[in-house]
Amino acid sequence: MRHKIKGIVVREIATGESDKLLTILTETMGTITVKAPGVRKLSSANLRSAQLFAFSDLLLYEKEGRFTLQESVLREDFYEIREDVTAFALGCYLCEVASSVSVGGDEGTEILRLLLNALYAAEKHVTDLQIIKAAFEFRLAALIGYEPDFSECPICGTPCDEMKRRTFELTDGYLFCAGCDNPAEGFSRRASVSDAAYAALKHILTVPVNKVFLFRLDEPALSEMAKLCEEYLLLRVEKQMKTLDFYKKSLVTTERDHT
Ligand SMILES: [Zn+2]
Repeated sequence: MRHKIKGIVVREIATGESDKLLTILTETMGTITVKAPGVRKLSSANLRSAQLFAFSDLLLYEKEGRFTLQESVLREDFYEIREDVTAFALGCYLCEVASSVSVGGDEGTEILRLLLNALYAAEKHVTDLQIIKAAFEFRLAALIGYEPDFSECPICGTPCDEMKRRTFELTDGYLFCAGCDNPAEGFSRRASVSDAAYAALKHILTVPVNKVFLFRLDEPALSEMAKLCEEYLLLRVEKQMKTLDFYKKSLVTTERDHT
């Protein structure tokens, strides 16, 4: 059986003499493993589509649940992301997270679009990499069914926009006002949210996917938002992301190089 499908390579392993085993996040079939014969040969027509971050139209052959790459037309390779080690590490992390949650169908299409926009933003440095990471995490959590409730305080009904002080409960995704923020209630994973961070989080959840990464945020709101978004998503993914350590190490190394 043949499949014509759009997909992005999120992981590659060299196998045999000139082959690769690719993990591909597809538009409609979730994340699949694809054998790519001969793609390490310079003469291979699939050479460029069989690389990490390559987004292509793919023709796959399926037999007994195993996929083999037959033909490809490259759409985007995000090649420049390799020029900056932190952007590259971030790209690897985004790919690992997206591929670990994608189940295909309409939701898969949305996840793929978010990932493509995030990789573009990281490649072109359209904003701070920390913002790209955080915005991706928060929007992804919403996409996979954990959209936080930013309408009103769940206890007294004060609209979130009118709150003077806000506390975000990470476990259930509610924002509490100052009056109802009571640690005795038994909520354990909480974070206070400044006005600037609140505006940024609202932007991430509400704008079209191609605008999600188009904003800036200064410290200390940036760190506050970044911490909250990472924690909020990882609470839901329940998987250790190896590439997250790689990204964090690359941040430390780059900072050290700059001082
Ligand atoms: Zn309240």
